[in-house]
Amino acid sequence: MPPASDDAPDERDEVSDAAPRSDPDRDAAAAALSAALDDCDGEPECDRCSKPADYFLYEPGRVETFVCWEHVSPFSAAVDDPEDARPGRPLALSL
Ligand SMILES: [Zn+2]
Repeated sequence: MPPASDDAPDERDEVSDAAPRSDPDRDAAAAALSAALDDCDGEPECDRCSKPADYFLYEPGRVETFVCWEHVSPFSAAVDDPEDARPGRPLALSL
């Protein structure tokens, strides 16, 4: 009996038919991230503890900081979802 394979979720992140959009917010966040990585001169660390950072929190003009997975809050940040980011809710880019 062959398994139904239509909905295998394994490679979701690599889906290429997600509409490629140029999102100015995300572009700005990516630029800020690469600048911050240049600045930190090594492995980025969480701003709240000293663990290696897993996310870069970004909100234009307000927030530019690294956080670990324990300190990124999906309730206060839009994790990898620029559409959820808005004033008061920074975007968290996974590193
Ligand atoms: Zn932390």
